[in-house]
Amino acid sequence: MARDSLLPFALPDIGEEEEREVLEALRSGWITTGPKTKAFEQQFAERVGAKHAIAVNSCTAALHLSLEAIGVSEGDEVITSPYTFAASAEVIRHSGARPVFVDVDPITFNIDPALVAKAVTPRTRAIIAIDIAGLPADLDAIGAIAREHGVRVVEDAAHAFPTRYHGRMVGSISDFTCFSFYATKTIATGEGGMITTDDDDAANRCRVLSLHGIGRDAWKRQNADRPWFYEIVAPGYKYNLTDIASALGLAQLRRADAMWRRRREIAERYNDALRDVAALQIPADSPDAQHAWHLYMLRVQPAQLTIGRAEFIQELRRRNIATSVHFIPLHLHPYYRETYGYAPDDFPIAVAQYEREISLPIHTRMSDADVEDVIEAVTAIVHAHRRDATGAAASARA
Ligand SMILES: *Cc1c(COP(=O)(O)O)cnc(C)c1O
Repeated sequence: MARDSLLPFALPDIGEEEEREVLEALRSGWITTGPKTKAFEQQFAERVGAKHAIAVNSCTAALHLSLEAIGVSEGDEVITSPYTFAASAEVIRHSGARPVFVDVDPITFNIDPALVAKAVTPRTRAIIAIDIAGLPADLDAIGAIAREHGVRVVEDAAHAFPTRYHGRMVGSISDFTCFSFYATKTIATGEGGMITTDDDDAANRCRVLSLHGIGRDAWKRQNADRPWFYEIVAPGYKYNLTDIASALGLAQLRRADAMWRRRREIAERYNDALRDVAALQIPADSPDAQHAWHLYMLRVQPAQLTIGRAEFIQELRRRNIATSVHFIPLHLHPYYRETYGYAPDDFPIAVAQYEREISLPIHTRMSDADVEDVIEAVTAIVHAHRRDATGAAASARA
């Protein structure tokens, strides 16, 4: 039996606490970067165990500033995975450097450290490792390669809050960690991001570059002897986060663990229901990690089904279940194909996994009944389109 209303793929979870915080910001008279942002930065740094947290208006800005703080520029190379969103690689271009893709691990979708090691050249300045779905990349191996070659690690943790790797919070491990608070992410401020780092100089540089390269921000100027005075020390950017957004962030941060537990509960229910379905592959997890479960990346086994991934998604939509696909590998997109001459089979694992992937809804505004609707729809579609052992369509026997 199909649902009578569409289950959204993702929804922000905004309640009374968020409303109260935002109202307080609105009524305070200080709506851009100010006391709420300072508090959000301090509490976020404490939560992940980082020395510094710099709030910015997106994870894309966070990634860009991290590369700028490292000093990545024209002629440099930055190694990353094609299995990611646009942001992870476009920032490499913003810094004038060349994105060097390497393929992923077929189980986790995360960058393969052995291939990273082979891709390092004298021009390599940084490695951008993405924690896909909220499962951390192989940070020990990547960190060791980076130290060996004197390059820095920028972790794209857009999916990875709250996440642990060998007991440590993501945000306290890599040279730079970049988080996203985009509307669909695990904590949401509409648009927003955070850089965490233990490097004092880099933190200062990110902070200065986030607001026009001005030495001190407007809120701090309020308290100075000469509030009108400022100095431009670099051609910076306009990447600061507003206090309206930070107000949302403060409330979301307080609820982050409860929201994470609910997402984990949904993931475990999906896993239990779908683990033994031969036509499906449930997402990877790791005993060494705390998975954030930002995404539930299911894979179909095409050989076991008479329909492809696209038809599977259409069938789910017909049953009022919205889904998504993560990710169309970057090297398949016209810009990267045409600029760097990449061909689809340059990264065969990324392409093979992409072609089988369907992201199921996993968010805290889903009820238990919604979760069961998804399971019922997925299993019904598998049942209706199963291929038997001889390769014939199950329905052909009927
Ligand atoms: C969402 C996302 C980003 C960008 O986040 P914004 O805050 O929207 O800039 C970067 N990397 C990955 C992997 C993402 O999913």
